[in-house]
Amino acid sequence: MNDGAGRADEAFFAALAQPGVQGLRAYDPGHDIVALRRRFEGTHLLELGSNENPYGPSPDARAAVLDMLHALHRYPDPLGGDLKRALAAVHGFGPAQVLLGNGSHELLMQFAQVFAGPGQEVVCAQYGFAVYALAAQAAGAALRVAPALPRSHAMARGHDLAAIAAAIGPRTRLVYLANPNNPTGTWFGADAFAAFLARVPDTVLVVVDEAYAEFADAPGYASALALLPRHPNLVVTRTFSKAYALAGLRVGYALAHPGLVAVMERVRESFNVNLAGLAAAQAALGDAAHLRWCVARNGEQRAALARALAARGWFVHPSQTNFLLVEFGPRAAAIEAGLLAAGIVVRPMTGYGLPDCLRVTVGTADENRRLLAVLDERS
Ligand SMILES: *Cc1c(COP(=O)(O)O)cnc(C)c1O
Repeated sequence: MNDGAGRADEAFFAALAQPGVQGLRAYDPGHDIVALRRRFEGTHLLELGSNENPYGPSPDARAAVLDMLHALHRYPDPLGGDLKRALAAVHGFGPAQVLLGNGSHELLMQFAQVFAGPGQEVVCAQYGFAVYALAAQAAGAALRVAPALPRSHAMARGHDLAAIAAAIGPRTRLVYLANPNNPTGTWFGADAFAAFLARVPDTVLVVVDEAYAEFADAPGYASALALLPRHPNLVVTRTFSKAYALAGLRVGYALAHPGLVAVMERVRESFNVNLAGLAAAQAALGDAAHLRWCVARNGEQRAALARALAARGWFVHPSQTNFLLVEFGPRAAAIEAGLLAAGIVVRPMTGYGLPDCLRVTVGTADENRRLLAVLDERS
């Protein structure tokens, strides 16, 4: 293969890139899952590293994808009109308040591109989802990271809304929060968030990433969507990747003020959500019973797995999601290696500054049994 001139390595091109991109490191997706699938071909690789829904999507979503196969030579609907109307109806907003993304990841990146830049600041939280820092840096904005709640707090390592509010300054354009948060699994309550939002100037956009909202059932938890009508600077993102089990099709969305959506539409790639994704998402949205079933199974298994891990002496962070952040202590890396050798993938947390922890997706009852059995053998 011809790699071009000798001096043209990554550093050469990085120097040509925009300042924000020069200091950037690519998103770390964890292990090379395809290589692992090959390595464990013939046995069973247990994939608990990416918070996917182990039960799979609604049968209606599969049928909708098959129905689309005759139309692969056509572009998808550039407006995503049907899906927008369906989402608007489900959430009780207007279709003009819905923005569709190739996964919510795409939208999270684009908010920073559109609303923040050099000389401006983006605020996020320690142990917040890694994409927020990437988005800010890629846009050339400065990042201000608010410290997380202490490990001893009931919401261990979760978002500290007071610290986040305090980090907002005159240059702040954007705040990223996740509720519940990945990788901690923690959440904040509706009242605390309403009080926080009341303190934020209306020129600062507050993006609340609700990728795991469907899984949340704690009494104090509520989606930020209820605050949308009163706060034009609020943006709520959701995804079909987690509870709806369509991670492979890449469909996410945001709900926001129609004016904000209109500005974002200016930079949206015209066919960013593909044909199969649009059809599957709409069908999945129509099958509320399947969603409820998955969420109920996850709730049972999350509680059982958390209890089982805690009974073995490990600290389990409170979770309202489909994963658990588990503090295994100084042996975390060795435990992770042991799990991997046995064909079980979990997510190391060193990149988040939590080398003692691993993030474990809640599996089916059988999957969790196997995880615990291997942990008992190897740790
Ligand atoms: C998984 C996840 C996303 C969603 O990603 P998609 O691009 O929609 O698949 C967004 N935010 C958080 C916190 C996540 O964990």
